[in-house]
Amino acid sequence: MLIDKKIDLINKYFKKKKEMIIMELVIKDYNNSNFYMAIVFNKRLEKFKVAYIPLDVVNSSKIADYICYQFINIKTVNYILESLNSEKDKFEDPSARNNLNENINNFYIEISINLAEKVYKFKTTKYLPKKWIYLFDPIVIIFEHIPNIMSELCTEILSVITDSNVSIDYKSSLNFDLFNDNIDDLFEKTICKQGLEYYNNSEVKFVENVNGKYFAIVKDHLVIIEYNSKQKVLNLYCDCKSHVPGKHIYAALMAIRNKEVKEFYKIMVVDKKEDFAKENQRAKYYLCFGTEKDTLNVIEASAKKKLPISIFENKTAKIIYDIDDKLKKSVTKILKQHHSDKIDNIMSQR
Ligand SMILES: [Zn+2]
Repeated sequence: MLIDKKIDLINKYFKKKKEMIIMELVIKDYNNSNFYMAIVFNKRLEKFKVAYIPLDVVNSSKIADYICYQFINIKTVNYILESLNSEKDKFEDPSARNNLNENINNFYIEISINLAEKVYKFKTTKYLPKKWIYLFDPIVIIFEHIPNIMSELCTEILSVITDSNVSIDYKSSLNFDLFNDNIDDLFEKTICKQGLEYYNNSEVKFVENVNGKYFAIVKDHLVIIEYNSKQKVLNLYCDCKSHVPGKHIYAALMAIRNKEVKEFYKIMVVDKKEDFAKENQRAKYYLCFGTEKDTLNVIEASAKKKLPISIFENKTAKIIYDIDDKLKKSVTKILKQHHSDKIDNIMSQR
């Protein structure tokens, strides 16, 4: 069955169930997968729900068999609608809602918003553009109400917006074929030896490509590597004292060449816990690489930073990506040691 046909069936199903679509998010052809998400208002219950349907499993018109629901707080929905309403002049014109890129033929994102009976359709390819920042919070909220495994997709959709745009003070920029040239040609012999040792001893704790740049934590140092594969240019940064590319960069390069991925945790921080219910509040997103005493180690732009663990107690922070709940476990442990039992709600609700 074609994806559009399935979406058609879903829409009919909602109509039949007297569920009005408030906001719809459709992801097509993302790593060969397709997803449907929506915030709906159930007229009989007078309650809002988030619906989630992995479109690829749908193979009959019995939509009820495939749909997952979670209730969503009315305050949260009001927040979404009010903030979208206040930004309406930015997307009233249909051309402002079309961001399709002809050169990209996968990863389509389609968003529909129903504001006072008028439906606004947005279309983009690959990522949410920066100019649509007002859709950022609504999308995060939808993803908070669907299965955890989808958070990676959320991070990816929003990656252009979360990119801090701060230019990085690279230590060097070289012509180098990252995946074919010999790394040892870039470094002095002693550095190659130390770097290889770090790599072999698993000192590359995290390594992940985020927004087109590789971020790595090697022996407590932040390494950032940007590679232009067309021009074969390699930009290298490390926050240690060395003035030339050193052992940390060497170890990170080894991990990247071996296609290793050790994902960072991702956390979301707001100023006040009421912020979700308020207008014009933007959450900040951080790559996180664990805890240390009473703090969280995060990356802001191109620098390491420490955030107090108490942000979880104040409920101004949420973990949005955490493989095996590792971060959650260590945060919980610290909070238990130092403080009370106010530890529920560390994870965004799912
Ligand atoms: Zn270094």
